[in-house]
This record gives sequence, structure tokens and C-alpha cells, in this order.
Amino acid sequence: MFLLDKSISKEYTNCMVKIIYREQIINIYTKSTLSMDEASKKIGCSVGTLRRWMKIYNIKSKGKVRYEIRMGAKYSILGNVVWLKKQLLTKSFRDIAEEVGTTEGNISDRVKRYGLRPKNWSHSLYVKSGLKKKYPNGRYGKLASNWKGGKTTLYNLIRESLRNKQWMKSCLKRDRYTCQWCGQVGGDLEVDHKKQLALIIKENNIQTIEEALYCNELWDINNGRTLCISCHKKTKTHSNKQF
Ligand SMILES: [Zn+2]
Repeated sequence: MFLLDKSISKEYTNCMVKIIYREQIINIYTKSTLSMDEASKKIGCSVGTLRRWMKIYNIKSKGKVRYEIRMGAKYSILGNVVWLKKQLLTKSFRDIAEEVGTTEGNISDRVKRYGLRPKNWSHSLYVKSGLKKKYPNGRYGKLASNWKGGKTTLYNLIRESLRNKQWMKSCLKRDRYTCQWCGQVGGDLEVDHKKQLALIIKENNIQTIEEALYCNELWDINNGRTLCISCHKKTKTHSNKQF
């Protein structure tokens, strides 16, 4: 089990779990005349993030039709197949969605509808294959985007790996951003290892980050649970690090 340290927690909050409160959405979106795009800009998050929180709080959108009318010409540019095709050459779905002020899902629907990409085309696979060509042996240490200057132990390398962030994200998503003990939704949440990370490393005799990345037990989301900070502190093994 581990507690996210402040830097990871902050980075994590910035890139993945931007906390938005119910009242914020009600005041800025529901009770106003703003579109979801405008509201998300005011809140300071992406439309996708706003949508996700609305789903969690069960807040309904003000209606797709009205939204499309409001977005007017800017939004209807998605009807321009040639334009969209050109965007796809250099931009991700997310980039295009943000530019137009809609969701990634909408872009993906259009792309499918216009047949601009084969059915099984996956952006993440596309990115991965590009990275693989560039770094055939993976990006660890200095090449990795999270390189901290060589001070990192194996334990920290694992915790700071992209794989670990994905693992945490999957756990948070599955638990619907809810503390599994007290039921707190949103706020400062952490992902607790039911079986200690250090123990898994020891039992599997993991010596390198590469070995860690291939260890299935380490990335089993059934071993993770979402807890708020105060519940996390109540776990028996809290901050009992063996490294
Ligand atoms: Zn709790």
C-alpha cells in the first residue's frame, strides 16, 4: 500500500482527476446560459472532464440540439469531411474535439460515419507504434518523460511509471471516484494496494522496471481500491514502506 506523494498527487490531479464540485457545475453550467464548452472553459477543464463529473453526479446536459445550435458554424465544421480528414493527419481526436468545442466521442463518431479510418483503428496503438520505432527498447531512465535526475529507486520508478498512472486511473474509474470505505465522492482520493506493492515486488523477485512492467500481479486492478486520505491513513500498512 502506498500514499501518493505530493508531487505525484498534484501531477495526477492536474492531468487526470481534476476535481469539480456539484455546486460548481450547477452554478456555472446548469443555471447559466453557457454551453458545456463555455462552462468547461470557465471551470478550467476539458469538456470530457466536465461530462465525466456530470455523469458521476447524475446532472443532465441541457440538450444536444440546443448545444449544436449555440456552437453554430464552429461546431458544424465537423460536417466538412475534407477539413476533418486534414485535421486527422496531425491531430488526435482530443485535440480536434478541444478546438471545435465538443467531445472526443463526437469526433470518433464522425470519423466512423465518414469512413475516414478503419473500424479497428486505435489512436493509442498508433501512438505506441510511433514511440516503438523511435525507442525500440522502451523509454526508461533519461529518455522517459518522467525522468527525475537519477535519484529514483525501483520502487519510485514503478510508482512514477505511466503504467502505474493507468492502473490508478482504472481503479478510480471502476470505483466511480468514490472512497470504498466512507463513500466520499471526489475530493482528495488515493489508490490503496490491498496487497502491498513492496510485498509484490519481493515475492516476484522484481529487479528492474522492465520486469515490473511485465508482472501481471502488479497491475491487477482487483488489488487496488479507492480510498479518501483519512480512510487511507486508517489502513494497517499505511506508509509502511519497505524500500
Ligand atoms: Zn473515506
